[in-house]
Amino acid sequence: MRDGRFGFGLIGASTISRERMIGAMNESGVALPVAVYSRDMARGRAFADEMGIPKAYDRLDAMLADPAIDGVYVASTNERHHREVLACAAAGKHVLCDKPLAMSVEEAQDMVRACREAGVVFGTNHHMRCGAHHIAMRDIVREGKLGELVAIRVVHGALLPAHLQTWRINDPSAGAGAIMDLAVHDADIVRFLTGDEIVEVGAMSANSGMGTDKVEDTALGIFRTERGTLGHIHNVFNTPFNRGSIEIHGTRGSLYAQDNMGQSPAGTLRLRDADGEREVPLVHEELYGRMIKSFVAAARGEGEVACSGEDGARSLAVALAMLESAGSKKMVAVPKVG
Ligand code: NDP
Repeated sequence: MRDGRFGFGLIGASTISRERMIGAMNESGVALPVAVYSRDMARGRAFADEMGIPKAYDRLDAMLADPAIDGVYVASTNERHHREVLACAAAGKHVLCDKPLAMSVEEAQDMVRACREAGVVFGTNHHMRCGAHHIAMRDIVREGKLGELVAIRVVHGALLPAHLQTWRINDPSAGAGAIMDLAVHDADIVRFLTGDEIVEVGAMSANSGMGTDKVEDTALGIFRTERGTLGHIHNVFNTPFNRGSIEIHGTRGSLYAQDNMGQSPAGTLRLRDADGEREVPLVHEELYGRMIKSFVAAARGEGEVACSGEDGARSLAVALAMLESAGSKKMVAVPKVG
């Protein structure tokens, strides 16, 4: 640790690290990025210089052997996550992996097992759990203020920025598409908000002009939870003016979150029930910073990571079931995970 701060090694010279995670680590007060591993040394060195990171490696084993590394943040393309998380576990490093955790449920379970056996913390970067609106919604649901949950609507759409219109829209082998990119977050947030599991899904997918014939840029999923709540998830890459929202409707109240599906701490939450409609006061906090703080606390044995590896395996199972349903045009049972 440097000045008591948790030293992160980053896997991949990635956009999410550049735009969100490095700043969040630096500002967290508890963590510092100390090295980056890139398959390409020139890219890794340039990234490290740009981002003020002391070291760059082009061999993962060399970075994992660096004693300044207390844990690793994995932000490579999705097909690499399995192999790289296993390497972190074998090196005894705590690991925070971005979503989707892997390309299959079996791989994700393998990662969970390896981290458990190695005694390292394994977190999934489902940052939306860290939003003030989502924490407030979960608490209101837990307190029973909505009564029995009947229906959930998730709209998760925006414009995929031009610089991210790469593997996400053209490379199925890297886990491309709106379902693997967005629905996986939505599956997690539904689980988080309700404390319930999605057990059955159906999905339709389409290409509205940004995707390719092999990769959807739009998807609509319907789902049933274990306790019988029905819901839908709408994912879109190609709608610049889409606000993003979640509604939860119960027998005694409804919650409306808006502008809540992004990466920044923003958005509103309204509660509507027999007492009328009112704004739920929120104290926003940087989402990725909250995730990092929870991960570091867990690594120090002082708490739990905001989203575990098991959580990541379960959200992946839902996304993969949606993909299967979109292909088969049949409802799909989500396999039990863990
Ligand atoms: P990028 O496309 O920016 O980077 C992915 C990987 O590609 C990098 O790790 C890097 O690995 C490699 N790479 C970077 N530049 C180049 C290049 N010019 N040519 C070839 N390879 C290159 O991906 P993102 O940052 O958008 O996503 C990374 C992961 O994070 C994904 O799993 C994604 O799903 C997830 N993500 C999560 C978000 C969240 O909010 N939780 C938001 C955005 C992404 P290397 O340097 O080793 O070659």
